[in-house]
Amino acid sequence: MLLTNFKNEEEGEGRQGERGKEKVMKTAEAEGIPELNIGMVGHVDHGKTTLVKALSGVWTDRHSEEIKRGISIRLGYADATFRRCPNCEPPECFTVREKCEHCHSLTNVLRTVSFVDSPGHETLMAVMLSGAAIMDGAVLLIAASEPCPQPQTEEHLIALQMRGIKNIVIAQNKIDIVTKEQALSNYEQICDFVEGTIAENAPIIPISAQRNINIDALIQAIEENIPTPERDLSKTPRMFVARSFDVNKPGTPIRNLRGGVIGGSVIQGKFKVGDEIEIRPGILVRKSAKKAGEWTPLLTEITSIMTAGKQVKEATPGGLVGIGTKLDPALTKGDALIGQLVGKPDTLPPTLHRINFEVQLLERVVGISEKMRVEPIKTGEMLMLSVGTATTLGVVEHASKDTVEARLSRPVCAEVGDTLAISRRIGARWHLIGSGNLK
Ligand code: GDP
Ligand code: MG
Ligand code: ZN
Repeated sequence: MLLTNFKNEEEGEGRQGERGKEKVMKTAEAEGIPELNIGMVGHVDHGKTTLVKALSGVWTDRHSEEIKRGISIRLGYADATFRRCPNCEPPECFTVREKCEHCHSLTNVLRTVSFVDSPGHETLMAVMLSGAAIMDGAVLLIAASEPCPQPQTEEHLIALQMRGIKNIVIAQNKIDIVTKEQALSNYEQICDFVEGTIAENAPIIPISAQRNINIDALIQAIEENIPTPERDLSKTPRMFVARSFDVNKPGTPIRNLRGGVIGGSVIQGKFKVGDEIEIRPGILVRKSAKKAGEWTPLLTEITSIMTAGKQVKEATPGGLVGIGTKLDPALTKGDALIGQLVGKPDTLPPTLHRINFEVQLLERVVGISEKMRVEPIKTGEMLMLSVGTATTLGVVEHASKDTVEARLSRPVCAEVGDTLAISRRIGARWHLIGSGNLK
């Protein structure tokens, strides 16, 4: 079932054709619940968190360390409801406000989306890659005040390409601090940079996230280029865990303790309160110095579901969902279950301690200013592998020209055909060097 809303029915031919044939009126419960995840990607300091704030009202850098260092460290989520004024013309009609800034009419809801704010810092590429696993589309933010591309502008675009995220809008930010000539020359650089990439046909919208300039045109471009995917809610449900918490205050008496909470994004199907679920790979039950140790999946029941700040009965794709369980909160504390998969019991792919994959290497290492060829993968080397939202290290046991077998430091739950991103340590950090397909 695709959740759209009243507005599309009135609009007739407008956007609704692209958004799927099935029309369902929004129930009170579905109002304000995000339909899809849009990644906010790009180089550090280009204005991603500021733009998410301009669109959603939420400042996603919440943790004290993020505030202190002035950069996003984890994935941030913020929901934004796009609206349209019935009396103004595009692009002025597009807004996130309930009242039109131009004519003061009440605006109509188009849809609610969830922004996944990625860190753009070079050392946090693994976080970005794990976020890319849940993005349905992306806004690539590029500051007009610096030459394009900056290292992570390119690295993030390649990550989108590897994950097959092709619905992209480019926002050329900070136009308030450059001259018209600088803006135009930067625009040309952006066009050259995206030529031949997955973002080749993406619209480029000049904006100022800080001064709220051209945000209406950006919303229009997102509405036109990043449609809500058609979802088949009858599929076997799957969720990627992006966070996990212990929501109890220290010192809570045992009888009042609330079960562990897992946060993440449903990627297919739906979960309901009362569903039995399995979480894989689960927990390490026996350590082993030589081998990966023994892991056992967790089985529990969904006791509550929260999304967009509301208690709901069902969790569907789009947005960050918080699932209350009967698990011991010690198991979910401090993001312990990040990267795991949730499904109905006995429906999840196997837990793999060793993986075999086909490799496509990039020609040159991205994310650094010098030009450096990607050397073939060698037996014995250590790689960082991003599988779904999971990040693990793998020691290469066999490597041929296009296939690699690796032993994982931490198992993943994945199946044949799944794609993974491959990074290699070069200098002080991990760099994306290619992608793989599980065999
Ligand atoms: P992020 O690292 O991409 O998330 O970037 P932030 O959103 O944290 O912004 C980095 C810096 O750029 C902050 O000081 C912002 O206030 C500033 N900034 C963001 N957008 C704009 C803009 O449109 N114009 C100007 N002049 N500064 C901006
Ligand atoms: Mg940020
Ligand atoms: Zn208006």
